[in-house]
Amino acid sequence: MLGSMQDWAMTLDKILDYSKAASPHREIVTRSVEGPIVRTTYAEVWSRAKQVTHALQERGIVTGDRVATLAWNSARHMEVWYGAMGMGAVLHTINPRLFPEQIAWIANHAGDRLLFVDLTFVPIIEKIADQLQTIESFIILTDRAHMPQTTLRNAVAYEDFIAGRPDAARWGGFDENTAAGLCYTSGTTGNPKGVLYSHRSNMLHALTANQPDCFGVKSSDVIMPVVPMFHANAWAIAFVGPMAGAKLVMPGAKLDGQSVYELLEEEGVTFTAAVPTVWLMLLQFLRDNGKKLSTLKRVAIGGSAVPEAVLRAFEVDYGVDVIHAWGMTEMSPIGTLGALTPEDSRKGIDERMRLKLKQGRPIFTVDMKITDDDGKELPHDGTTFGRLLVRGPAVAKAYFRNDGARRADGTALEADGFFDTGDVATIDPAGYMQITDRAKDVIKSGGEWISSIEIENIALGAEGVACAAVIGVLHPKWDERPLLIIEPAAGGQPTKEAVLAYLDGKIAKWWTPDDVVMVEKIPLGATGKINKLALREMFKDYRLPTAQAAE
Ligand code: AMP
Repeated sequence: MLGSMQDWAMTLDKILDYSKAASPHREIVTRSVEGPIVRTTYAEVWSRAKQVTHALQERGIVTGDRVATLAWNSARHMEVWYGAMGMGAVLHTINPRLFPEQIAWIANHAGDRLLFVDLTFVPIIEKIADQLQTIESFIILTDRAHMPQTTLRNAVAYEDFIAGRPDAARWGGFDENTAAGLCYTSGTTGNPKGVLYSHRSNMLHALTANQPDCFGVKSSDVIMPVVPMFHANAWAIAFVGPMAGAKLVMPGAKLDGQSVYELLEEEGVTFTAAVPTVWLMLLQFLRDNGKKLSTLKRVAIGGSAVPEAVLRAFEVDYGVDVIHAWGMTEMSPIGTLGALTPEDSRKGIDERMRLKLKQGRPIFTVDMKITDDDGKELPHDGTTFGRLLVRGPAVAKAYFRNDGARRADGTALEADGFFDTGDVATIDPAGYMQITDRAKDVIKSGGEWISSIEIENIALGAEGVACAAVIGVLHPKWDERPLLIIEPAAGGQPTKEAVLAYLDGKIAKWWTPDDVVMVEKIPLGATGKINKLALREMFKDYRLPTAQAAE
């Protein structure tokens, strides 16, 4: 017997429709690429997003066509999101930090028809324009007064693109499983793979990501996604904001410590989110300038593990609650969040910090398990680690065009329907998961595993260390041993002896790196994570002093 309730397809246009009805005057503030702070409202963004739809349809864009953006977080970017998704086109957010050749490869693979591009990235696109096989025209996200001289074919200013268009275009009316967004994983090996989100998966994910123990955003909040809209849906924040009726602050191109600080303070931000590297820059700025954070209450940190020094600085020095988040592009992206259980939140500071360094408990709808290499489930005892597998309505089952298929039906899943995250983790009896490593980064020493992440996070607390990375280096006796690579902070002069002394007692003796080397800059990948592949390449001929001794 079926229930007798109304049909309500979970399509994303309903989010912006709702914000127009329930929070029309709530602000969206952007630090524009042109420079000034620009203020608009949900009602205005709704209206302009409708104009985008109209203009897209004039260009012959239909349901299922891919429309790409190469853009910072801004109200205009949001208008293009909703304008494209609302009519059933697929919004493809391209990561501008990828190599230009990769951008061309991705745009061709996606079959993008139009590209909306920020002023900052016009020079990049001009260089690869003749490789872009499917893009018919380029819309520069600016007005006529700021249009650059450009060689891009059919280039038009965004404000001209939508000018005079009515805001009456129809949204929704299609199946909730229709594709809404496309985002490529910045794969460290092989070609990037496309994750194709649906309206339903994004809607469910935004609803679960904003549960009270998760982001917990409400209308009185002022939220700033520093995490880019091109990195896995800005962790659902561009959906959560209008859904909650929160004021949105879009930081545009300037993500340095001072610029982020200014927006936090001037706009009264209460909740923000980004990868650890952004927060390292902010904290450095706060310390160097003796500044405080007067309105910020919660900060979500994810994309890579939260270093202990960052966690303690926010919690202890600035009174900001850290929400440690783990997830991946294939998971829309959030899998776990680090809110403590009521019992744990009553524990002492050191115990709370220890638990908050874990990646946290799964959000509603995410099923998680750890297994050994043969697929046998491992116990949730907090010490046994294994491959982390997940399942849920916002987890990918296949990649775009069935790339990376594991099974004949084109899916990328294990036989039991779980998705292998490529991460190695423990799960404790209370349900907290802790990432030990990426499967390919874990250091295999004498048949045992050493977690590179754990050593890195502790090493970051040593004096004068700006960034730390650990890679496995070949060793004749132990297969691999850890090499610690350090980027000193400005003016810092960490020594090998001082760093090893700092690690002493904080990690197991046999985890102690066999050597410590200083480099000017640790390479970061396109999403701000340490690029271990590049480091392994840099150190491929490196011989550990202990290796020479063992020969
Ligand atoms: P991406 O799809 O680019 O967001 O990358 C996802 C990967 O980033 C995950 O599979 C993890 O390896 C890593 N990652 C994300 N969040 C965390 C976290 N909080 N701690 C450790 N690793 C993380």
